[in-house]
Amino acid sequence: MKLYSTNNKDLRVSFKEAVFNSFPIDKGLYMPVEIPQLSSDFIKNIDHFHFQEIAFAVTQAFLGNEIPEEDLKKIIEEVINFEAPVVPLSNELGVLELFHGPSLAFKDFGARFMSRIMAYLSDKNDKTLDILVATSGDTGGAVAQGFLGVKGTRVTILFPKGKVSEIQKLQLTTNGQNIRALEVDGTFDDCQSMVKEAFNDPELNEYFNLTSANSINISRLIPQTFYYFHAYAQALRQNKKSISFVVPSGNFGNIGAGLLAYKMGLPVQHFVAATNINDTVPRYLQSGVYMPKSSVQTLSNAMDVGNPSNWVRIMELFNNDLQKIKEMVSSASFTDEETLSGIQELYQQYNYIACPHTAVAYLGAKEICNAQEFTIFLSTAHPCKFIDVYSDNLKNEIQIPTQVKELENKTSLAHPLKNEFIELKKFLLNN
Ligand SMILES: *Cc1c(COP(=O)(O)O)cnc(C)c1O
Repeated sequence: MKLYSTNNKDLRVSFKEAVFNSFPIDKGLYMPVEIPQLSSDFIKNIDHFHFQEIAFAVTQAFLGNEIPEEDLKKIIEEVINFEAPVVPLSNELGVLELFHGPSLAFKDFGARFMSRIMAYLSDKNDKTLDILVATSGDTGGAVAQGFLGVKGTRVTILFPKGKVSEIQKLQLTTNGQNIRALEVDGTFDDCQSMVKEAFNDPELNEYFNLTSANSINISRLIPQTFYYFHAYAQALRQNKKSISFVVPSGNFGNIGAGLLAYKMGLPVQHFVAATNINDTVPRYLQSGVYMPKSSVQTLSNAMDVGNPSNWVRIMELFNNDLQKIKEMVSSASFTDEETLSGIQELYQQYNYIACPHTAVAYLGAKEICNAQEFTIFLSTAHPCKFIDVYSDNLKNEIQIPTQVKELENKTSLAHPLKNEFIELKKFLLNN
């Protein structure tokens, strides 16, 4: 598998290089030179395969020439060890639950795959791989769980003090082993710029084999295609032949993976990108003018992104033809008030409790849902991660998964840190 940069079509790098660099120096994004196609026989019979088999077939289409079959199978078995069910709400509407992994958010797919791939591709005699990650909440937990106990790796997470939910904090700080958490007295942006500075620091780069777990890494995109194929397989089993997906979107990695799956041969009628009021993409699809703006804080805070970094990938998949994109993708944005009423409506009509991100997707689904097809909206996180959002009656209804109950008995350990790069550097050099 060869990759090019969206800023330079002539650049060619290997998969390994793309994984460890995360992005090219020209600040573009890596894209596969060729989009692998799955055979129409496989697609037709996909309902005969279970999730791991589907994930394996998709990965093999990408990496069959790079990683021997047996090794790839082992990686997939470790990555896909939880379910992603399509729960039908009505004849026309279903919800694809992506929160059954260890950190209770869909980012587990990307993080688990990336961790195994990085460990597999790094040379045996390489220095320990040091992963630095800044998080506003969900990414850190998924990365921590993904790399926990993976040999040859160590993760340092920076999170903003007082700005992550109680459960998120436990997920970041109770891991031990090869995972360290730094509680930064500052904002998420501070954490991010400290990490960026670390990557540019010659001394740190000399001492450590630094890498990032950034969400634009190609090894996070590939595993996110798995569940679109698997959802289609489940729809076929429920006798639904025509499907559309609605994806709650922030950085547009998730929907980007869905569109990649479509380009690989998955039959999908339509995609909807549902956003909160950080509506750069919905505005773009309406006006044809791409105008990013600073992000605004909302209830669906994992989607508070003003300049979605994966959008260029989607443009690239459609040869930068806006008209072609609009035939396949529509987009709508929703306020916090609408999100809250979406949560209530889902509960009252379907007895279903959704996280705020999922509720945004539900609102998007309502706009296109029709009797001719099956509309599947993606549920990206378990509601318990955002417990403060709910009214008391719903709060009491939310089942706390065992993963969370176990966290409560563990010791929480976070190293406090000032929001200055020099403090991070000192910590890294001395620990
Ligand atoms: C990260 C995240 C999203 C946004 O996904 P993108 O790939 O950035 O569009 C949506 N919901 C939850 C719960 C998330 O953690």
